[in-house]
Amino acid sequence: MTYTHPQLSASTHWINGRFDGTASSHTDVTNPATGALVASVPSGTAEDVDRAVSAARAALPGWANTSTADRAAVLTRLAAEITEHNEEIAQAITVEIGAPIMFSRMAQAGLPAAVAAAVASIEPNIDWVEEIGTSLIVREPVGVVGAITPWNFPLQQTMTKIAPALLAGNTIVYKPSEVAPLTAALLARAVTRAGAPDGVFNVVYGAGKVVGEAIAAHPDVDMISFTGSTAVGKRLSVVAASNVKRVGLELGGKSANIVLEGADIDLAVRETLVNSWSNGGQACGAWTRLLVPAARKDEIVTKLVAAAAGYSVGNPLDETVRLGPLASESQWERVNGYIEKGIEEGATLAYGGPGRIPGLEDGAYIRPTIFSDVDPNSTIAQEEIFGPVLSVISYEDEEDAVAIANSTIYGLTAAVFGEAEDALRVANRLEVGQVYLNGAGLNMLAPFGGYKQSGNGREFGRHGVEEFTEVKAILIGGSTGASVAL
Ligand code: ADP
Repeated sequence: MTYTHPQLSASTHWINGRFDGTASSHTDVTNPATGALVASVPSGTAEDVDRAVSAARAALPGWANTSTADRAAVLTRLAAEITEHNEEIAQAITVEIGAPIMFSRMAQAGLPAAVAAAVASIEPNIDWVEEIGTSLIVREPVGVVGAITPWNFPLQQTMTKIAPALLAGNTIVYKPSEVAPLTAALLARAVTRAGAPDGVFNVVYGAGKVVGEAIAAHPDVDMISFTGSTAVGKRLSVVAASNVKRVGLELGGKSANIVLEGADIDLAVRETLVNSWSNGGQACGAWTRLLVPAARKDEIVTKLVAAAAGYSVGNPLDETVRLGPLASESQWERVNGYIEKGIEEGATLAYGGPGRIPGLEDGAYIRPTIFSDVDPNSTIAQEEIFGPVLSVISYEDEEDAVAIANSTIYGLTAAVFGEAEDALRVANRLEVGQVYLNGAGLNMLAPFGGYKQSGNGREFGRHGVEEFTEVKAILIGGSTGASVAL
């Protein structure tokens, strides 16, 4: 399969409103469905980062001085631009990470447009200036924001950073994932067409260790907003401490999904697979641990296995396919290793299993897999697998379920299925940033983010915008004076 992206031949870094620089080396982007070369993007350097940061710094005063309403209008136009290019974006992401094309259109390309529109819509609801007593509390931009994102939702993970950052008046240096950089140039042009002045949004391609660390270390960058692995998030926090940057982290997850007695089992089974296997299970909030009452385990596993048969694996450009390949060969090695580990650790293999799929050996295809009788302390129940591997864990009672759910280093999302009152009671006991009850859908304005080692800070909605603001208190005095220093 060959694929040509109209902007790729011109894609260099995007700095100060134009394609910039000639790179001395490039990084290949491969299609995980075929192993074919799709594109090459520049391998950026610290000097490239420096130029991008200078452009962002120079653009900051002008952008910060525009009105919040004008910046919201830019985001509204950006949403329209992304919607207009839905198919192009979907095709690019399907080719770079193997996401099934229907999912790419709906989620990979559809959600970022919805996020930009949602952020624009809340501009009037944010307390840009608040009065506390006789003081004015003013929200100002943090400054130059470094945005570093992973490959699993290349445009969506980026939009959840840049839309709120732009609304708050920040300027941006963005480093896309080297695995999935194909939408960055399109995004840069869309931001410009939407009305952001030159230098407000800049793109530098390259390796995490080189370009990512240069952004994190740069003395003229005020904030890092990162989505990716917990290991890299920890490293970035250390590097960013050099000038006391603000660091917002969206990291890994190992989300528990608790089915209570009284739950609608068919609903729970259906939603569990939709959630934990969409995007090939390559989502930080995927509900990868299914906690079931011990007495209902056999019934639930039987239903899961029956429903799993509906998850066809194949060419991600085929509109009927529900699971494409994993995003890369290294992802395949990792996920396959965990499936082997699950067997080795004594879990019961109920569906799927390790190894290549006959007829699909050329791509990074893996079997969607279900384990039951999983020990809650075993490797596959504790570590983030980032693939379509579901672990079914039996529990004895509600106390036990809550303890198991809270027993990992992560705390990103969770789900509970059960009668409304029971589900809410359990939700309140979970150490996570977001809990979905009985298959609730996404809320674009509800905050998303992690407890524990799943990160800090929140994205989406008002909370997400506030992350990108500094708070200034202006205390107004009179003729008597009452100064005091703390
Ligand atoms: P993933 O494998 O899911 O992409 P990573 O945490 O490895 O997760 O990478 C997320 C993003 O962080 C990517 O853009 C990657 O290039 C970048 N990155 C990786 N290592 C570093 C690092 N040491 N410093 C800064 N950024 C990094």
